[in-house]
Amino acid sequence: MTNPDVLVVGGGSAGVAAAVATAEAGASVVVLEKNAFLGGKATAAYVGTVCGLYYRSEDPLARYVDNGFPKIFAEQLQHESGTKPFFYKNGLHFLPYNRFAFLRLCDDFLEKNKVSLCLHAHLTHVKKEGDHIVEVGAAVHNCPILFHPKTVIDTAGEAVVARLAGVGIFENEEYQASAQVFEMAGIATDDAQILNLSLLRNIQKGVADGIYPKDYERLSTVPGSLQAGRAVFKLGLPLGVGNDPALVTRLELFARKAVGEIVAFLKAQNVLFKNAWLTMIAPEVGIRTGPRNMGKVVLQKEDVMDCRKQDDAVARGAWPIEFWAPGKNPRMEYFAPGDYYDIPAGALQSAFLKNLFFGGRNISASEDAIASARVIGTCLATGYAAGRMAVGLVRNEIYERPVAEIRRLML
Ligand SMILES: Cc1cc2nc3c(=O)[nH]c(=O)nc-3n(C[C@H](O)[C@H](O)[C@H](O)COP(=O)(O)OP(=O)(O)OC[C@H]3O[C@@H](n4cnc5c(N)ncnc54)[C@H](O)[C@@H]3O)c2cc1C
Repeated sequence: MTNPDVLVVGGGSAGVAAAVATAEAGASVVVLEKNAFLGGKATAAYVGTVCGLYYRSEDPLARYVDNGFPKIFAEQLQHESGTKPFFYKNGLHFLPYNRFAFLRLCDDFLEKNKVSLCLHAHLTHVKKEGDHIVEVGAAVHNCPILFHPKTVIDTAGEAVVARLAGVGIFENEEYQASAQVFEMAGIATDDAQILNLSLLRNIQKGVADGIYPKDYERLSTVPGSLQAGRAVFKLGLPLGVGNDPALVTRLELFARKAVGEIVAFLKAQNVLFKNAWLTMIAPEVGIRTGPRNMGKVVLQKEDVMDCRKQDDAVARGAWPIEFWAPGKNPRMEYFAPGDYYDIPAGALQSAFLKNLFFGGRNISASEDAIASARVIGTCLATGYAAGRMAVGLVRNEIYERPVAEIRRLML
């Protein structure tokens, strides 16, 4: 499998979708994943809910935006997690999920589709000749392996393939705020309103009394997660995320220390948490955005907010812009309920390398546009579309063919 038709770099939501699309179309595919497990931010950072699957609407019944794979994945996830779509404020719908169910579902999809998977696989180099990638090097559990794929799909979330190939990428000084997720059990209520109110009052008083660090103020319950005295919490970290490698370590250390202190504070100060305990801390801090690829087209904020429809659409987005600046509450920008914007094929295709495609949170998009398109539901859709487009290139199909097929399957 060192010469597959398609090499998928990164086994998060988009990477799994890309691999399934590729395998379904009959091409050979290998997925490289640096972690010991699949799912990316959905499992490693345990973000807790799948957004972007449904239209925004005041109708309590959730209606899918993208059909085909995103819908199939969501329905199985719902079944395995024992959850159902959650109707939230402002007409938003999302699906809470169980982390283990997400992990296992990704494994199952790859196994069923006979996708070759390399876990513990770090990308080491990318060699290009002219406008084609000709070689990709990886260390798989510290053993070097060379791949000579016909096409490459970057679903690693940080435009790593383009960076190593030395072509242009979109980079910022600072990216959107990160968060640490953790779960506690033994909480003495199953009423989310009571929990949230008590948490808010407790933190405000703790800060005023000088016994709760202001840096830990941005603590919230993941909506829909409170069940049988267990709840998932998200701590918004006050440190910025940038391109300095030292910052990544600082964030992880800061977040772990903070969770330890928060748990101790809640147990001592909040009667609902008196007998509660920490059951899980997500393996990594959740980093929302990072470097992105430069595609033939760049998805812009106006495309999102004007719900722009495009002739070569291969996926749809319906989540509002949810922009998290460090130390601030999210800036939400809503477009019309019941509407969606198109993601064009050109936003998933490299502007520089003919055999490089991308899906998920590193598609070609502005920082504002990705604040909408990065949600898991949309990542499943763009990942799937990238997979089918990559197969189109392997088969020398005219550009319109995979685009038409994706539209038939998903839109
Ligand atoms: C704090 C936080 C809260 C969020 N909340 C929500 C939410 O409630 N609902 C929602 O829908 N979305 C939410 N999101 C967004 C969403 O989780 C992510 O944008 C989405 O999961 C990204 O999927 P992806 O497949 O594009 O990338 P990722 O999930 O980032 O997957 C990339 C994969 O590539 C692997 N990888 C990276 N580099 C390499 C390399 N060099 N070699 C090999 N493998 C590599 C990674 O290990 C990872 O598995 C949140 C994000 C964060 C950070």
